[in-house]
Amino acid sequence: MKVINYILCLFLCTTLCTILSGCRTDRQPGEREAWMAANGKIKVLCTTAMIHDLVQQVGGEHVDSLTLIKGELDPHSYQLVKGDDEKFSHASLIFFNGLGLEHGPSLQNVLHHNQKAVGLGDALLLNYPDSILYYRGQLDPHIWMDISLWEKTLPYILGALIAKDPAHTETFTDNAQKLSLKMRQAHQETAAQMQEIPQEKRYLVTSHDAFQYFVRAYIASDEERKQGNWTVRCAAPEGLAPESQLSVAEIQALIDHVARYRIQVLFPESNVSKDSIRKIVAAGKAKGLDLKMANEVLYADAMGPPGSQADTYLGMIQYDANVITNNLK
Ligand SMILES: [Zn+2]
Repeated sequence: MKVINYILCLFLCTTLCTILSGCRTDRQPGEREAWMAANGKIKVLCTTAMIHDLVQQVGGEHVDSLTLIKGELDPHSYQLVKGDDEKFSHASLIFFNGLGLEHGPSLQNVLHHNQKAVGLGDALLLNYPDSILYYRGQLDPHIWMDISLWEKTLPYILGALIAKDPAHTETFTDNAQKLSLKMRQAHQETAAQMQEIPQEKRYLVTSHDAFQYFVRAYIASDEERKQGNWTVRCAAPEGLAPESQLSVAEIQALIDHVARYRIQVLFPESNVSKDSIRKIVAAGKAKGLDLKMANEVLYADAMGPPGSQADTYLGMIQYDANVITNNLK
């Protein structure tokens, strides 16, 4: 009987642990507590890691920034979890992407009309409306995938930090200028690297439509950008936000696209199920196409894990450029 009780207890504990670890809770409580502690720094909450990276570099030692949507969680559908409300009330500044990225109702609600919140993409839309892309009538929020466009958000970050802590204006400005230079250089290098891929092979098919800005900036030719017909160079089965529900018609449209442009490699993304890419590859092979899924994942809506080459914003774009180049060249 004791043995049965022991096994039952072990089973219950294991099940409970699995359920708890599957829940979207804050996985690094130490980091959260350190951020909550008063230390004279500006407490900033950023919805994504790509925003956090810029904010921390501009703010340096005077800013304590925390990422809300951690790891591989999907920013499109993220909903507030226990403890998030506290983060929002503790932050003296909040940066979010905007352009409809954070559309989980509870997150959208807390960002809406929040006096402390700065929507970086929304500011770009106001000031550089022609640089923002749409897809089937919807704003495309993936602006960080073009380094030169993401660099244009620096003045909004800088302005907000200076307004909170004018005593460190000089440091913030200096940091922003250095980062701006680094980003402009990385933009040029990425463009040069991608243009080395032969034009007839420069087509990108990814899990969801996160790479439109990347393709416009780095994969299209100058002529295609001018003509506006660069969009044929990117395609994705899952639309602007990952859905994973594919219709037969959607699969067929992708197969037609792949066949027309003689595309041979499809790219999965780190935080999106590989199922839709697998389906396209299988359906394409059944029709005699020479198709494969790249062995490496691309990073788009989430950066790479700590310690990986893609664990910083510029590292992530560089990593993607390398994976794409190695597979398409
Ligand atoms: Zn996305």
